Amino acid sequence: MVKETKFYEVLGVPPDASESQLKSAYKKGALKWHPDKNAHNPDAAEKFKDLSHAYEILSDPQKRQIYDDYGEQGLEQGGAGGGMAAEDLFAQFFGGGGAFGGMFGGGMRDTGPKKARTISHVHKVSLEDIYRGKVSKLALQKSVICPKCEGRGGKEGAVKKCAGCEGRGMKTMMRQMGPMIQRFQTVCPDCQGEGETIRDRDRCKQCNGKKTIIERKVLHVHVDRGVRSGTKIEFRGEGDQLPGVEPGDVVFEIEQKPHARFQRKEDDLFYEAEIDLLTALAGGRIHIEHLDDRWLSVDILPGEVISNGDVKVIRGQGMPSYRHHDFGNLYIQFTVKFPERLGGPEGEPMTDEQVKALESVLPPRMQHAEPPVDSMVEDYVLENVDPTREGQARAAGMMDDDDDEMHHGGERVQCASQ
Ligand SMILES: [Zn+2]
Ligand SMILES: [Zn+2]
Repeated sequence: MVKETKFYEVLGVPPDASESQLKSAYKKGALKWHPDKNAHNPDAAEKFKDLSHAYEILSDPQKRQIYDDYGEQGLEQGGAGGGMAAEDLFAQFFGGGGAFGGMFGGGMRDTGPKKARTISHVHKVSLEDIYRGKVSKLALQKSVICPKCEGRGGKEGAVKKCAGCEGRGMKTMMRQMGPMIQRFQTVCPDCQGEGETIRDRDRCKQCNGKKTIIERKVLHVHVDRGVRSGTKIEFRGEGDQLPGVEPGDVVFEIEQKPHARFQRKEDDLFYEAEIDLLTALAGGRIHIEHLDDRWLSVDILPGEVISNGDVKVIRGQGMPSYRHHDFGNLYIQFTVKFPERLGGPEGEPMTDEQVKALESVLPPRMQHAEPPVDSMVEDYVLENVDPTREGQARAAGMMDDDDDEMHHGGERVQCASQ
């Protein structure tokens, strides 16, 4: 039984895969996910890295054994984390000028430099900032090589290779399990996996022998106009420094915060406006506060007639397009608020003049079925529905809650954009 299967899953092979199975799974995946072939897929670079890292571990029998027994944590303790850069591994397989017509140079290398882990951070940005673009100053804590001992951990010559593990940091131990003797790898107890020892009095005072110190570093992250959620901004070599390995990278992932007025879908904005029936029929004006302190004044023309749920568009007033130099659209979905009732203030019905005024502008009444001559005809007027008494109407779905209506409305806005 292996402890973890993540690396096997990344490569898409079973945990008992042979070396050649691993090799062909890596080749297939690396060609598919290579960043040069996936310029428009921001996830590809991450997949390519994961794939390379998984293969690097599993293709080394010793590392694979540690991974099978102890999982990823075992590798980190043993100092085998980090690993070579994904591009170097790829170049080893396909050679410079190979797979994609020499788009990446280099050529064959025996082993790539090891690299410290990537520091990843989600950077939440308001829609206003994405609309206008901005530079965020973000501070991070990172390890840097101790300037006092230059990463040795102590006085020059005072750092000795650990005798217990011969500098490997890991030790093979034996354990009696009934009739069997089990061999297993463990972190060297003499040096806590460091692979070397320092006498206390020679230990560096500034880093306490740890070789690195924590430093605060401010990075300027450019939030480009119209950048999409999920976009990754990479600072190569600005991450942790560790002795003997290449400095790690820092990656910021842009995440757009939800907005009170607008919903965003790609480069388009969606806005919900409530208007009264008079405006819907006879025209009027609404104002929309945009994302850059401008207000849009929108005229509804008399007789244009906006129905409840109608979606209209103002072209070019959406988000700035990240790659093309134009703007998306602003879609407005209207809710038309009907009056509670018409007529006099005391509940009097509309006067004949009022009815005639409406009849003069609205289309004529629809023709309803008339009862045949000689039918029995009874007269009724309508009553308002009392929600506390109309349990059956509610159960039959005839009386949706207001919240439900809002919900359906929201969905319609999204459909209308496609
Ligand atoms: Zn030091
Ligand atoms: Zn040791």
